[in-house]
Amino acid sequence: MSATPVLQSLIAGRWIGSSAARDLRSAINGRLVAQTHAEEIDFGESLDFARRQALPSLLALDFQQRAAILKALATYLQERKEDLYAISAHTGATRPDSWIDIEGGFGTLFAYASMGRRELPSSNIVHEGPAQQLGKVGQFMGTHVLVPKRGVAVHINAFNFPMWGMLEKFAPSFLAGMPCIVKPATATSYVAEACVRLIEQSGLLPAGALQLVIGGSGDLLDRLEETDVVTFTGSADTAAQLRVNANLIRRSVPFNAEADSLNCAILAPDVQPGDPEFDLFVKEVMREMSAKAGQKCTAIRRAIVPAAQVDAVAAALRERLAKIRIGDPSIEGVRMGALASKAQQADVAERLAQLAQGNEIVYGERDGFAPVGEGVGDGAFFAPTLLLCRDPMRNEAVHNIEAFGPVSTLMTYGDFDEALALAAKGRGSLVGSVVTKTPALAAQAVYHAAAFHGRLLVLDRDAAGESTGHGSPLPMLKHGGPGRAGGGEELGGIRAVKHYLQRCAVQASPTMLTAITGEYVRGGKVTEDAIHPFRKHFEEIQVGDSLLTHRRTVSEADIVNFGGISGDYFYMHFDEVAAKDTQFGQRIAHGYFVLSAAAGLFVSPAPGPVLANYGLDTLRFVNPVAIGDTIQARLTCKRRIDRGNRPDQPPQGVVAWDVQVTNQRGELAASYDILTLVAKKA
Ligand code: NDP
Repeated sequence: MSATPVLQSLIAGRWIGSSAARDLRSAINGRLVAQTHAEEIDFGESLDFARRQALPSLLALDFQQRAAILKALATYLQERKEDLYAISAHTGATRPDSWIDIEGGFGTLFAYASMGRRELPSSNIVHEGPAQQLGKVGQFMGTHVLVPKRGVAVHINAFNFPMWGMLEKFAPSFLAGMPCIVKPATATSYVAEACVRLIEQSGLLPAGALQLVIGGSGDLLDRLEETDVVTFTGSADTAAQLRVNANLIRRSVPFNAEADSLNCAILAPDVQPGDPEFDLFVKEVMREMSAKAGQKCTAIRRAIVPAAQVDAVAAALRERLAKIRIGDPSIEGVRMGALASKAQQADVAERLAQLAQGNEIVYGERDGFAPVGEGVGDGAFFAPTLLLCRDPMRNEAVHNIEAFGPVSTLMTYGDFDEALALAAKGRGSLVGSVVTKTPALAAQAVYHAAAFHGRLLVLDRDAAGESTGHGSPLPMLKHGGPGRAGGGEELGGIRAVKHYLQRCAVQASPTMLTAITGEYVRGGKVTEDAIHPFRKHFEEIQVGDSLLTHRRTVSEADIVNFGGISGDYFYMHFDEVAAKDTQFGQRIAHGYFVLSAAAGLFVSPAPGPVLANYGLDTLRFVNPVAIGDTIQARLTCKRRIDRGNRPDQPPQGVVAWDVQVTNQRGELAASYDILTLVAKKA
């Protein structure tokens, strides 16, 4: 018989821990899975290592390089996922539950890798422009930059998604250039430890970029500094306790919390039994009760239905819940596993007992333990339990007590305003769903419920086929809600990276701002040389390289020819009489002609390193171009992004060019950025 493994912490580049402290047991059969270590962690050493070793290594890389590492890491882990599934099974999770945790975690890494690649520069400074002119002549401007905070990110995670919870916080922090110290919830820390071991074995991260704490966090929070960040997921009580840590308050250390949430799903009054939306609602409630045995921060705790439909909804849910096979997920056909621990089982039973007072049980048993299932041994199983509250405006418990398991409460409403008032009684939730077939009801619901929710899903028959579901946070959408849900924000695309960067307003001349931001700011000095910018390779192009073109007088023939080629005979270009009555008082050239003519002025036509023009940004036609006006273009390198090299492409970089088209009076006619791919020399 092999000895029970003692989990280890990864601190300052060393795995620490050999003597056992706390037993961690399988949620399925109560057998010992692992033990935490008894050795105390020196958090001074951990933080010092993060600041002195990891931080400089992370900042020696740029956003693009860190994004590439995230992708390599996701690929590495993906190839070793079966080891993680085997370990995850001890948490009571079914394969689909573990999929959310494991592959959902990898998916988040992949998503941040590609968002970083697409949206962040090949430097460590993000220009949050555009710069604003603060004086009359444009030589004093103001803008915002985001820079790495030069601190450490502490992540405290919940027991329910030990991998996803860790990776969804790690990905944006790493991208931002922050070393992370991760403290998983102890109950399922063996999964997080297995994942961190793989990450360390990959050799892909700089030493200390990710440290792991098994067990308590000791005096870690007391040691944090002004540049650090804490991100927490767990219970509202723990969040309330930790966010008032005197050191965090004194030093204004941001504390981002994602805590309890009594999420709701509303069946709108327009939906009748027999409508596809009726079945969608029932399915969604059933899925959220049974997935991960209801231990999802996003699970539906409150199903709000019209009083007239409650019997039909209850009957449909009863029928579906009865079909869920509960037991050891390794048994074929089992759809719902166990809660994560016996402690969790006791906690859910206690909260169910409180919730059941004064409410009917529509499905399940009063204690939740009764019909446990197959192969359950001494596991932490809990039967799905559906309650019915007929007076939810007066019953406060159903809006306040979260049984973090397969427990949900049906509650009835009279009119739709009452349904929305019930939704708000959750006092801030991560997510809510509205199931309706009427756009006006969807609009009314979102307008009122958005103030109380981090995310809202509007579900109808059109969206159903592709819907990702009520309970799935997505990397590109914000996760986190106001009030009881903790008041924090995670994910939401690059927003999450910005949470780990520091924003600073900068005032300076355009030339200074160009140097500071790494992006050409109009009015700044430009460099003109004999070589056309389009004849330069990526490495040779500098921000500020510029070309002032020759001029071209726009004739009536140009307008007529352009109309003929494009088929655009809009009156403004072709009807002298109608054009006279407009604000321009005369016929003017097509905006797209000006754009095309400008390209004719600035391109260097022979084959060269510019491989493609893949789009335009920020296009504005500022002043009209009339017949007889003379236009000229200035093309200036605004931004260059080195995304590294990909094996499937010739070596290349992204160059954005600032284009200004002016008329003979020096007035701006058109303004835009063109985006090109430019070959590298190598
Ligand atoms: P806790 O709040 O107890 O724990 C969350 C995390 O905080 C764990 O890593 C825990 O570590 C840590 N922690 C607890 N106390 C401290 C402390 N004093 N200092 C530093 N870290 C601390 O939540 P649980 O995970 O036990 O879950 C309890 C309840 O929280 C659930 O029943 C549910 O209601 C809610 N919950 C909400 C979630 C959400 O996403 N909204 C997710 C999970 C749970 P340790 O495990 O070592 O105690």
